[in-house]
Amino acid sequence: MKIRVLGSAAGGGLPQWNCGCPNCVRARAGDPALPPRTQPSLAVSGGGRRWSLVNASPDVRQQLAAFPALHPRPGTRDLPLESVVLTNADLDHALGLLVLREALPHRIVSTAWVRDALLQHNAVFNMLAPAWGAVKLDEPVRLDRDGELEARLFPVPGKVPSHLAELASNHPEATAGVRVTEARSGRRLVYLPGARRLDEAAWAELEAADCAFVDGTFFTEDELARLRPGAPSATQMGHAPIGGPDGTLARLARLRGRRLYTHVNNTNPILDARSPERRAVEAAGVEVAADGMELEL
Ligand SMILES: [Zn+2]
Ligand SMILES: [Zn+2]
Repeated sequence: MKIRVLGSAAGGGLPQWNCGCPNCVRARAGDPALPPRTQPSLAVSGGGRRWSLVNASPDVRQQLAAFPALHPRPGTRDLPLESVVLTNADLDHALGLLVLREALPHRIVSTAWVRDALLQHNAVFNMLAPAWGAVKLDEPVRLDRDGELEARLFPVPGKVPSHLAELASNHPEATAGVRVTEARSGRRLVYLPGARRLDEAAWAELEAADCAFVDGTFFTEDELARLRPGAPSATQMGHAPIGGPDGTLARLARLRGRRLYTHVNNTNPILDARSPERRAVEAAGVEVAADGMELEL
């Protein structure tokens, strides 16, 4: 399986246009320890010929432009994009669908709740309805016409995005992780860009994965409130923090497969290559995903 990290920052990217936090100031100034990052998405392929995306960020145009494997064949509008899988209805994961609206050669795959929430409450998404198929949680779905990759969405404790808060305070289909399995090799990728906490089922998915991309939005529970008093906590925003005795790093350190933090918020100290938090992550055997990174499983 081939994997390309299209974007590794959380919503807003690095630097975020309206943010003057220390990381954003340094990234804007071109500090080599904090290279710029786009919003979160992953591209996956079996043989490298047909590709699918997990989530479509508002930066998808720039991300595809930088990735020749997903360029159209000269003289045509054919490009090897098969499916776009959504893990939830967050705008940093779904707005890219609108950027990719011309022609819709690809299929959109999500839970019925995510599809209906976006289609029925946001008129602009309606043009995507014909391409949008709903899958049940834990139901396998083929991502490409050759059956090289299979995806399964599995539920994780999450949060309904604030633009849909009037619909429900939460719903089992609102937040998922995705397991992608290559049919030929059985190799497994897990992508989990948002979870309020990792329950035992989520840990079982991560433990069985050959490669796991995990929500690295915040390092500490009060990361935003330290910069902006009164800001919500990491858990209130639907993201389990990395650090501390109950943080995700302590247990990720014990896993066998390749492990990477992604969906990293611009305030997170692990974005600074020289920070003690980054050193702690790397000392635990966990990587910080970067835009343009390519992996082969
Ligand atoms: Zn910032
Ligand atoms: Zn997000």
